[in-house]
Amino acid sequence: MATGLPCRIGVGYDSHRFVEGRPLILGGVRIPYERGLVGHSDADAVCHAITDAILGAVNLGDIGKLFPDTDPAWKDADSVRLLEAAVARVRSAGYEVGNIDVVVICERPKIGPHTGAMRQVLARALQVEPDAISIKGKTNEGVDATGRGEALAVHAVAMLVRVSR
Ligand code: MG
Repeated sequence: MATGLPCRIGVGYDSHRFVEGRPLILGGVRIPYERGLVGHSDADAVCHAITDAILGAVNLGDIGKLFPDTDPAWKDADSVRLLEAAVARVRSAGYEVGNIDVVVICERPKIGPHTGAMRQVLARALQVEPDAISIKGKTNEGVDATGRGEALAVHAVAMLVRVSR
């Protein structure tokens, strides 16, 4: 369990394949695009990577442990709700979110125009100001499955701050 340190950091990663016939949801925002991501939940890779980062920071396992994809309760689940549940665990452990930095890697669609809306949704879920959340879009320069547009990947780093009681 998380004890002692005034700050703790965690890293999260997630990747999902693109497929026809699913909506594209990232950071709790539905993004207009001709394909979406495959997944048991809504496949929101931004929420999943952030969830793993904050859980990792306090050594509480990962999203697969908390919300198993074998559990029908999480089928097509709104991943913002999963993130909120993870935030509650983190707060029970005596920490709150300090700031989050996220990189979204995909060839298309462009992520930049949607980061403002994502930061608003994520700020509410993480109980921070939008200023505490950074989201950057990158392409993979055409390299590997992500570069061929077959998948989208997300890296997230979280700093948590101990709550003084
Ligand atoms: Mg995922």
